Amino acid sequence: MSNQRQRALEAALRRTTERVFPPSEKISDYFGQDVFSLDQMKTSLSPDTYKKVQHAIAKGKKIDVETANEIASAVKIWAMSKGCTHYTHWFQPLTGTTAEKHDSFFDASKGLEVLKGSALIQQEPDASSFPNGGIRSTFEARGYTAWDPSSPIFIWARTLCIPTVFVSYTGEALDYKAPLLKAVEAVDKAATKVCQLFDRNVNKVNASLGCEQEYFVVDKAAFNARPDLIMSGRTVFGYNPARGQQLDDHYFGSIPSRVYNYMKDFEIEALKLGIPVMTRHNEVAPSQFEVAPLFEDINVATDHNSLLMDVMKRVADRHEMKVIFHEKPFAGLNGSGKHNNWSLITNTGVNLFQPSSSARENLQFLAFFVSTIRAIYKNADLLRASIASAGNDHRLGANEAPPAIMSVFIGSELTAVLDELESSGNIKVDKGDNMYMKLGIDKIPEIILDNTDRNRTSPFAFTGNKFEFRAVGSDQNTAGPMTVLNLIVAEQLRDLHSKVTQAMEAGEDKKVAIAKVLKQYIAESKDIRFEGDGYSDEWVQEAEKRGLSNVKNTARALGAFLTKDSVNLFEKFGVMSEVELEARNEIRLENYLMKLQIEARVMGEMALNQIIPAATGYQNKLIQNAKGLKELGLDNSHVLDSLSRVSGHIAALSADVAAMIEERKQVNKIEDTEERAIAYCDRIKEAFFDKIRYSADQLELNIDDEDWPLPKYREMLFLR
Ligand code: ADP
Ligand code: MG
Repeated sequence: MSNQRQRALEAALRRTTERVFPPSEKISDYFGQDVFSLDQMKTSLSPDTYKKVQHAIAKGKKIDVETANEIASAVKIWAMSKGCTHYTHWFQPLTGTTAEKHDSFFDASKGLEVLKGSALIQQEPDASSFPNGGIRSTFEARGYTAWDPSSPIFIWARTLCIPTVFVSYTGEALDYKAPLLKAVEAVDKAATKVCQLFDRNVNKVNASLGCEQEYFVVDKAAFNARPDLIMSGRTVFGYNPARGQQLDDHYFGSIPSRVYNYMKDFEIEALKLGIPVMTRHNEVAPSQFEVAPLFEDINVATDHNSLLMDVMKRVADRHEMKVIFHEKPFAGLNGSGKHNNWSLITNTGVNLFQPSSSARENLQFLAFFVSTIRAIYKNADLLRASIASAGNDHRLGANEAPPAIMSVFIGSELTAVLDELESSGNIKVDKGDNMYMKLGIDKIPEIILDNTDRNRTSPFAFTGNKFEFRAVGSDQNTAGPMTVLNLIVAEQLRDLHSKVTQAMEAGEDKKVAIAKVLKQYIAESKDIRFEGDGYSDEWVQEAEKRGLSNVKNTARALGAFLTKDSVNLFEKFGVMSEVELEARNEIRLENYLMKLQIEARVMGEMALNQIIPAATGYQNKLIQNAKGLKELGLDNSHVLDSLSRVSGHIAALSADVAAMIEERKQVNKIEDTEERAIAYCDRIKEAFFDKIRYSADQLELNIDDEDWPLPKYREMLFLR
């Protein structure tokens, strides 16, 4: 007998390695070849137009129609020379993936290929199919995409892609990008002001982002034989393999050749698109890997991350594989994150999170460093909400997962520096000779940091010259959490600046004033700092004592966006209005509900259509066997044992599935979205998922391997 599982495994075993040949041995020969870069513009635009574009990009200024016309025509010629026939406004709607609608360059009325400046600048996609949280039904049914010149135009899948933001007719953001751009502007302004306390030459501060992207890959046939992976992106059932990640041998192991070729292939595509992918390695769990590009301006890095995920999905297909970005595709194994490495860098090239040997810069470093910590402390709930999703709930706060408590790790040396500054207004420098220096005098000494001081269990860790926000989910658009991070830091920096200038106006020395504010910040925000094992039970208890929140699920986390303080904060910096925040919340709650609903349904279907029938088949075999043994007068007690075990699990599984279906009907009647989401979380997910899974997994363990219909963990995870 051959079931879908066996056919899938046969197909997977027959695969050969897809060889990959880069366009050239030298990456520099093809890096960015599919990007309409500044260099490309320089050669194809008039010097005047080129200058205008440069200015628009640097200063975030608008581009006039005439200039747009010239750019559009140059872009069209470039794209056609590379075989493109269509163009699209490329954007990131709140569904979490990228969206595009292709239009042909060909204009039948003229009989020629054209791209007008107006088409470059603005489009009106059929927006009704994108989530809007009720904004467009209350206001106006139209939405527009508007060109964002600060992110370069590129060619992907033979289509010219124009990065855009997506807004409603009345100007509300309908995508991830628009609020991010505003938050980045807010942090630029606030950070520049603080920098000018130290260096008048600073007139712009750029937020930078480097995303480490974790993912799983499995064979396409195995993937397609699992309805749960297809429908929900994660396995809702699956008995843990005898060999999971206990051996920790995957992390340092060599990359399997099929995967290696896949990586090479998507990296080539990414490099052509100007995405500076630099590192690749295995992750802790079997079949889990990571790719990390070099950090870039946060806006470009965000687009690049979304694009990279798309590239990875499409290239996987060529290799008969599926890439899985879900935060927790396999129970019992590590989940996947998207570590957001974030820093602020001045137009003069100074990384504000780089402790340095210059006295002046070190006080500046501390100003930014301490402000960031206080921002996390004061807005932990908002930050938590920014990474909340149905998928990430399985990774944070669930069983066998790190808690959803926000904390900051800074390492022992910086802890010593902050402790000293807090208690005595001094900076302690330990260079072996335990030297102490007073702050407020000219010579503020070096802080020497040991970069090996790492803590992989911290959701928000300082790693030498940047912060790494590790709690972000692998499937999330980075723009959400990065909007919040930049916004809350902007607020702190503004606060710092105003306190310092007030003190200075009252006659205080600048450095003393800064040190005093920092002292106060340090004392206030101390509770958010944690250097220990963030995955331990002790931390959960300790955090509770400290009064830190541990919001375990999305349904309860999202409300943090709608508190009076949050709305105030978003509105004060013009990042989002209350209407936008409410709309977004509605979308995220709906999305959460939809995901849970799909999981619940797929569980029910798989249990009823696949697992119970397979188990009943085996049950019949046992019955025949028990009867036969009895007829022959032989002992059949062991068969009866198995039979009772299998029968028990079948009975439990069908009863629980039936009860869950009934409960869903009740929960679906709840009108308020937030209440419904909470009910879905507690009464469906928490009440039934583990129970149902337990019975199904026990059946997987107890019935004949031949009869089991779904590819098992070991078959999906250890394929070569
Ligand atoms: P790992 O955390 O795996 O040891 P690294 O910390 O070296 O790796 O780098 C992770 C990511 O951090 C990369 O994308 C890298 O480009 C990025 N990164 C390095 N410096 C900065 C910075 N100053 N700002 C933002 N990202 C940075
Ligand atoms: Mg890192």
